[in-house]
Amino acid sequence: MERYARQLSLPEMSLDKQERLSKTSILMVGAGGLGSPVLPVLAGAGVGHIVIADHDTVDETNLHRQTIYKQDQTRQSKAKLAKTYLEHLNSDIQVEAINEKLGAENHQKLLNSYQFDLILDGSDNFKTKDLLNSYSIKSKSPLLSASVLRFGGQIGLFAGYLSNQPCYRCLFPDFPENAYDCNQAGVLGSASGVIGMLQAHIALCTLLDLGDYKIGDIVIAHLDKLRLENIHLPKNKSCATCKNQDHEEMSNLESRSVMIDILSIEDVAKKDAIIVDVREPHEISSDPLNHDLIKRPPLQIPLTQIPMKMSQLPTHKPLAFICAGNIRSQNAAEYVAARGYEDVCVLDKFSL
Ligand SMILES: [Zn+2]
Repeated sequence: MERYARQLSLPEMSLDKQERLSKTSILMVGAGGLGSPVLPVLAGAGVGHIVIADHDTVDETNLHRQTIYKQDQTRQSKAKLAKTYLEHLNSDIQVEAINEKLGAENHQKLLNSYQFDLILDGSDNFKTKDLLNSYSIKSKSPLLSASVLRFGGQIGLFAGYLSNQPCYRCLFPDFPENAYDCNQAGVLGSASGVIGMLQAHIALCTLLDLGDYKIGDIVIAHLDKLRLENIHLPKNKSCATCKNQDHEEMSNLESRSVMIDILSIEDVAKKDAIIVDVREPHEISSDPLNHDLIKRPPLQIPLTQIPMKMSQLPTHKPLAFICAGNIRSQNAAEYVAARGYEDVCVLDKFSL
């Protein structure tokens, strides 16, 4: 958990969410201009299972925007190189490479083999986007589709398998016949980098239930003007691809919350609770807990070590977690409460 300390410090994050991310499975289709920025961010954040699908090899003309590859790796499989890159970045996660083109046969194989929490589309053609949209609907997995061209791009979250949510085809009922790709139209490395980072950001927010990005939200980036435009796409009730879908909800986007009391030092003393200080050692040494009502030395277990050191937590007395600002302590208390500890609370740091 140590590597995730900075994201765990966010008040909106929790150990439970981090653990949930470690059990999350995603499919990234395309390890090119979008996959290059997306994959390291998701691996670094701790997405536990990443499947990379790309049948292409590294070409010298890719290197200006696909910066996870090196110039001595040309003609090697992107999916396999990206897998190695991610494994060196985070050995806690599982990465798989599919070095073949998505088509009807292996598409079906994929569909039967995995249940993805999120499908990320980083492809550069409508045929693949259409396949992924069908896959999203059949497998009931949300699709986060992105595309980039010249100085712009767009990212949208689709879930056409839900009765009231759009699919990719609700946005594009008819695919343009003469669509350009990056080979023909050109693209700056910075443009695909920005769109890829936005896609990675929306993916993390979606998986962790952070922010207020919703299914059907489309972000359109005009990078020549540094302007982002947001639209919300309703389901097209006459969309031939996604009409008549079952009424289902997305369980993987649901969040659980446990109510934890925040008590003063006086109330914690009355409960005779054992205090667990989840700050880092350097914080504790520079600001030790000194209070007449603290009768026994607090346990010292930094937040990121709580999952590993659960066995050190006493079960015979209430537990009161404390940190520097009642955020990490709340995280720790929610985490242990969800695992069967009934009498846990937060010791209000500001009551000391
Ligand atoms: Zn649709």
